[in-house]
Amino acid sequence: TPLTPLTPQEGAAVKAADRAHVFHSWSAQKLIDPLAVAGAEGSYFWDYDGNRFLDFSSQLVNTNIGHQHPKVVAAIQEQAGRLCTLAPGFAVDVRSEAARLIAERTPGDLDKVFFTNGGAEAVENAVRMARLHTGRQKVLSTYRSYHGATATAINLTGDPRRWPSDTASAGIVHFWGPFLYRSPFHATTEAEECERALRHLEDTIAFEGPQSIAAIILETVPGTAGIMVPPAGYLAGVREICDRYGIVFVLDEVMAGFGRTGKWFAADHWGVTPDLLTFAKGVNSGYVPLGGVAISAAIAETFDTRPYPGGLTYSGHPLACAAAVATITTMAEEGIVEHAAHLGENVIGPALADIAERHPSVGEVRGLGAFWAVELVRDKETREPLVPYNAAGADNAPMAEFATACKKSGLWPFVNMNRLHVVPACNITEAEAKEGLAILDEALAVADRHTTAAG
Ligand code: PLP
Repeated sequence: TPLTPLTPQEGAAVKAADRAHVFHSWSAQKLIDPLAVAGAEGSYFWDYDGNRFLDFSSQLVNTNIGHQHPKVVAAIQEQAGRLCTLAPGFAVDVRSEAARLIAERTPGDLDKVFFTNGGAEAVENAVRMARLHTGRQKVLSTYRSYHGATATAINLTGDPRRWPSDTASAGIVHFWGPFLYRSPFHATTEAEECERALRHLEDTIAFEGPQSIAAIILETVPGTAGIMVPPAGYLAGVREICDRYGIVFVLDEVMAGFGRTGKWFAADHWGVTPDLLTFAKGVNSGYVPLGGVAISAAIAETFDTRPYPGGLTYSGHPLACAAAVATITTMAEEGIVEHAAHLGENVIGPALADIAERHPSVGEVRGLGAFWAVELVRDKETREPLVPYNAAGADNAPMAEFATACKKSGLWPFVNMNRLHVVPACNITEAEAKEGLAILDEALAVADRHTTAAG
């Protein structure tokens, strides 16, 4: 039930206060028009004008168990009544329990958990741990990646947007990961892409000097940059290279973790165990800010007698940990991870494959679980993106028109550059997923009009 009356007037007041006082992230303040949202439940949220939207964005790929799950809401309320906050130095039941539940699910010997308030802070700490553990400075990360917007994380990010500051970039080296559809290596098969990508990484390491490299950080399945599922053998190959040179292997599962790909962690698809694994978002469906780093026994030991220099006032906040315990328990009880796998294999995957066949604007669909990208192109042959990277204003019109068409039909899409990301809650029902996919199918006619096929 919304706290504010559901009237357009109330919505206008919310909007006016927002415009007057809220400074929005990643935005030119006068060029945005945020929707005033009155409430949300399950796979839907709604505005003050009576419009309800099927949420195919999961709020930045975050609400893995949907909006307002009653078990998680109750757990937060119960914890608030018992103990709202306590400094990170104390042992607290919900914090211990959250760490245990996470450690039980992370791969291999990642048995210790360092809690943070979100994804970027997890990445900052993973890099710090790797540097202290190895005594080396350089960190390798890929182009077409997103690791967050704090100092080191934003510089690790390999993204065609131009960052305002590169002051923290010392020692960060970018290389190309595998992406067959737009292969940096001109490969034509998955096996070729894998082999060439590993050779490129070996060359990069040789020229940077293996003794100077603390860590290689990869998103297990790069998300923001286009949900690019790595070829079989790639992650195992990187693992082997890291072992050979004593380099710490960090997998960033902030977006791909906690059921999103149809496994608890995306690394489980390839049986690979990193030395450090970063997480956030799905760990508690984003109900209270939480992230963290799962740490291998060997790296944890580095800090057995030497203090680890890091941590913030809110690290491992009890309300956030209570939400994590409830989320993980609910995901297990309700089979939500298995449901995400089912959606990928039997509902979303087949529907998108069919969409790709029929629409001239769809160059490729790829993904797994509840984690899919639709690559929109002007021309299927040349693979020219439907809009250029960083397109704004008139240049971005085809994507903007497509998004508007979705919203008019009651679907909230996740649109990023020339791509549509299909990332609903992992527990969206089959019927809801099909309803959303049908809306996308229809709205893609708008994108088709901007292709060379349309003349
Ligand atoms: N790492 C990955 C893989 C992400 O997708 C994100 C956010 O989308 C981050 C890190 C940053 O997380 P946060 O925005 O919680 O700082």
